[in-house]
Amino acid sequence: MHYDIGPRSAAAFERARQLMPGGVNSPARAFGAVGGTPLFIERAEGPYLFDIDGRRYLDYIGSWGPMILGHALPEVIDAIVQAASRGTSYGAPTEAESRLAEQIIEAVPSIEKVRLVNSGTEATMSAIRVARGATGRNKIIKFSGNYHGHVDSLLVAAGSAAATLGVPDSPGVTPGAGGDTIVLSYNDVQGIVDAFAKYGSEIAAVILEPVVGNMGCVPATMEFLKSLREQTTASGAILIFDEVMTGFRLAMGGAQERFGITPDMTTLGKIVGGGMPLGAYGGRADIMNNVLPAGKVYQAGTLAGNPVAVAAGSTTLKILKEDPPYAYLESLGDRLAAGLGKAATDAGIPHTVSHVGSMVTLFFSPDPVQCWADADRCDREAFGRYFWGLIGEGVYLPCSQFEAMFFSRTHTEAMIDQTIAAAGKVLRSLA
Ligand SMILES: *Cc1c(COP(=O)(O)O)cnc(C)c1O
Repeated sequence: MHYDIGPRSAAAFERARQLMPGGVNSPARAFGAVGGTPLFIERAEGPYLFDIDGRRYLDYIGSWGPMILGHALPEVIDAIVQAASRGTSYGAPTEAESRLAEQIIEAVPSIEKVRLVNSGTEATMSAIRVARGATGRNKIIKFSGNYHGHVDSLLVAAGSAAATLGVPDSPGVTPGAGGDTIVLSYNDVQGIVDAFAKYGSEIAAVILEPVVGNMGCVPATMEFLKSLREQTTASGAILIFDEVMTGFRLAMGGAQERFGITPDMTTLGKIVGGGMPLGAYGGRADIMNNVLPAGKVYQAGTLAGNPVAVAAGSTTLKILKEDPPYAYLESLGDRLAAGLGKAATDAGIPHTVSHVGSMVTLFFSPDPVQCWADADRCDREAFGRYFWGLIGEGVYLPCSQFEAMFFSRTHTEAMIDQTIAAAGKVLRSLA
């Protein structure tokens, strides 16, 4: 499958490569997993991205999650412009921060107190520190294929970017930093039971994506979540749901609302910032009261609670609450998943489709994907050809087998059907 990216994107990438490592500021953007070079984007509107060569693409990344309302929504842009016109940063408290905190706490009842930070990575890094500080324990459990940002202690067996690039353990992460991290297999109940039997009283926290987006879309089983809740409660360990991707996407209250499982702490990012750099972590008040200056666990940020980012996030959450898109997104997700599955079947391509709400993955593997070992069996080369085929059809997918497709409230049924038809055409050419 061959696609000629536009001459401007090609030139822009050459220039960027001289200036930034790999030409990008975040590795997934470089298209390394699918071969070829990235498209440079000029602007975005609703469900569409426009590259600097003037080509239009139907966007299934949504900035890797945040853009659930579509790009450049006038209400969100207005809120950003108004906030910016009052000054972009004060380093002093604002009422707008309390308003966003209230919105988060109301949407996610397990969060009694919350701290605003600048990214999902900061949220998970801080949550782990607080969990360790609150319990006085060192060890944490994470699951292979789950990504929690580029936090040293969590950057082991970390899914998408790392897995795709074949560097599951980054150089620069010392054995000391990773040494208290126990990595288990996702959806493996026995693994949890065994780990708690062995290390129970040393485990500060278990962190997981309740629906994984970072090895493709892989939901946790109810049995797995229940077992995690029981084991952590029994041992006094803190259960952290990393809802940076699923928060405000799978439901207003995230995956925890959907599954009816209450974690002790939650990390948020992506949608909570409405497309601006903002993350959050929160949980039970007795845990969060360990954070400085209420308690002794240090965590700070010069730009934390930034007024422009808070305005974007707060406006996004307000719209999501007043006019919830979730039933609509659910129906589009069902339609897209069923359509892609049928297209692959008709084309004779071995596959599995996995989806929850507006997160969808077509895995190039005939077997169900429940953990990283399953995901790792996918045909990455076929995915690369599928990806470029769809770019040629004007459809922009995540550039890795191990990232979920996202769509927004601005995607229509007709667009979903168009996407399925385009996928069918590409899949037939692969067979
Ligand atoms: C994106 C993501 C992160 C990291 O967030 P950044 O804002 O990129 O630092 C953490 N956890 C999950 C589940 C994510 O999807």
